[in-house]
Amino acid sequence: MQFRDLKTQYRLLKDDIDAGIEAVIESSAFILGKEVSELEDKLAAYVGRKYCISCGSGTAALTLALMSIDAGPGDAVFVPDLTYAATAEAAAVLGAVPVFTDIDPFTYNMSPESLEIQIRKVTEEDKLVPKAVIPVDLFGQPADYDSILPVAKKYGLKVIEDGAQGFGGSIRDKKACSFGDISITSFFPSKPLGCYGDGGAVFTDDEGTARRIRSLRALGRSEENKYCNVETGINSRLDTLQAAILLPKLRAFEEYELEAVNRVAARYTDRLKESFVTPAILPGFISSWAQYSILCKDGTEREELQKRLKEQDIPTMIYYPKGLHKQKAFEGWDYADSDFANTTAVSSRILSLPINPYLKDQEVDRICEIALAE
Ligand SMILES: *Cc1c(COP(=O)(O)O)cnc(C)c1O
Repeated sequence: MQFRDLKTQYRLLKDDIDAGIEAVIESSAFILGKEVSELEDKLAAYVGRKYCISCGSGTAALTLALMSIDAGPGDAVFVPDLTYAATAEAAAVLGAVPVFTDIDPFTYNMSPESLEIQIRKVTEEDKLVPKAVIPVDLFGQPADYDSILPVAKKYGLKVIEDGAQGFGGSIRDKKACSFGDISITSFFPSKPLGCYGDGGAVFTDDEGTARRIRSLRALGRSEENKYCNVETGINSRLDTLQAAILLPKLRAFEEYELEAVNRVAARYTDRLKESFVTPAILPGFISSWAQYSILCKDGTEREELQKRLKEQDIPTMIYYPKGLHKQKAFEGWDYADSDFANTTAVSSRILSLPINPYLKDQEVDRICEIALAE
C-alpha cells in the first residue's frame, strides 16, 4: 500500500489529463497559457474569492503574500509550532522573525490564546514589530478563525492563511483559502488538490494586493511593460502543463473526492475512536483530510503500532516529529520550550495513517484491524 495513492486517481482521469497535457504541448504556450487563467478563475470561484494568482509552489505563495505586505527585517510573524517548515521559512527567508505559538490540544491548529500571549511578549520586549499571523489549516481542518481573526484585529496584524493542506475545508459554508487577508494553497502532489510537480496559489479580495502579487511573481515587472521593473520580486509561475493537469482534478475534487475522503475519515474514526484519540473536527467545520492523524498513548505505543502496520505493508508518517522551535534552522532566536507544551505532547504521540478519496472500505477495515490487534 502507498501512503498517498495517486495512481488510482490518474487511471480514472487519464483521458482528460492526457488530453490536457497534449493540448498544451501542441499550443507551445508553456508559460501563462490559457489553462492558467482558466484555472485561476475556477479556483477563485471555488473558494469564494475575487482574485487567485497561481505560482510555482505553496512556499512561493507564502513568500509572495509576505512580500506584498512588506514583511521583512524587524518584523515578527506568528506561526504555529506544529506545521511544515515552509510556513516559518517563508518569513525567515525575507528577514522577518517567525515567532511560534503553541497549538490547541484537540485540533492541533494554532492556539488563539498562545497567539495573544506571544503577541504581548513581542510587544513588551519591543525589539520586533508584530506584523502578521500565519494560521495553518493543519491536516485539512481550517484553523479557528472565529477566535484568531479578532486577536489579529485587536493587535493590527495581517492574516495570511496557510491553506496548503486546507484546500476544500470549510467553516459553515465558507471555504478554506477565504479566511485570511491573503490566503495560499499548495498543489504539491500529495496535498488535497495536487498537481504533478510543484505548484501553488495566492488568494485575496483586495485588488491592489492581487496586482502587486501578479507583479511580484514576475520579478516585479510593471503591468504595462514586461521589461520595466518597478520593484524586486521573484520568478514563480504555475506551469501551463500543471494547470492543464489541475483542471480535471479540480472537477473530480468538487464532484466527488471531497465527499469520498470524508467518508473514509468517518469510517476510520468509527472504528478507532475507542482505542485512540481520533481527530477532533469542530462543530460547523469540514476537513479536506490532507492527513488522518491519531494520537497514541505515548511514543512507545506509537513505535509498536508503526512497526505492526509496516510489517503488513501499511505505511504511516509522523507529522511532525517536533515543533519548529526545535529545528536547527530556527536556532538562535529565543524560544522557550515551556511555551509549546501542547506541541511537544502531541508531536511525541501523533501518527498519520494512509488516506485518500479512493481508499476502499476493506482497506480501511484492514488497517484498523491491524491497529486494534495487540
Ligand atoms: C506543503 C506545505 C507548504 C508548502 O507547499 P509547497 O508547495 O511544498 O512549497 C506550506 N505550508 C504547509 C502547511 C504545507 O503543508
